[in-house]
Amino acid sequence: PDTTFEPGCIFCSILRGTIPATVVRETGRTLTFRDVAPQAPTHLLVIPKTHVYANAAELAAGDPGLAAELLREAGAVAAAEGLAEDGYRLVFNTGGYAGQTVFHVHLHVLGGDALGRFGV
Ligand code: 5GP
Ligand code: ZN
Repeated sequence: PDTTFEPGCIFCSILRGTIPATVVRETGRTLTFRDVAPQAPTHLLVIPKTHVYANAAELAAGDPGLAAELLREAGAVAAAEGLAEDGYRLVFNTGGYAGQTVFHVHLHVLGGDALGRFGV
């Protein structure tokens, strides 16, 4: 149940190792790697190791413990990357108006410099 794989999902391919990624942290249920097109000096993605949930709302409704683990991992990796003191941003894009392109839930961790207020 924790290893659901969706053919054609880029993040599932990263989990399987068929597409390379720069992994920075791993837990039993999560993987954290660098975004291939960083929007900040440090831009990481925290994902569950299962394709069950497309977005944050589905994840929180279906597996609140896993949602909490993603948030905990984001905090841990932000601290490990030295972002905690100056601050950073966590983002869950959801749907078309947010520009979501990968429908395997992922938490963006952005930091390393002052960020624009919001992308609106
Ligand atoms: P979304 O817009 O769906 O919230 O974000 C998807 C993110 O995945 C984007 O920031 C994009 O740069 C990143 N991404 C897409 N394909 C790859 C890939 O093959 N490797 C990595 N590391 N990141 C990717
Ligand atoms: Zn997937």
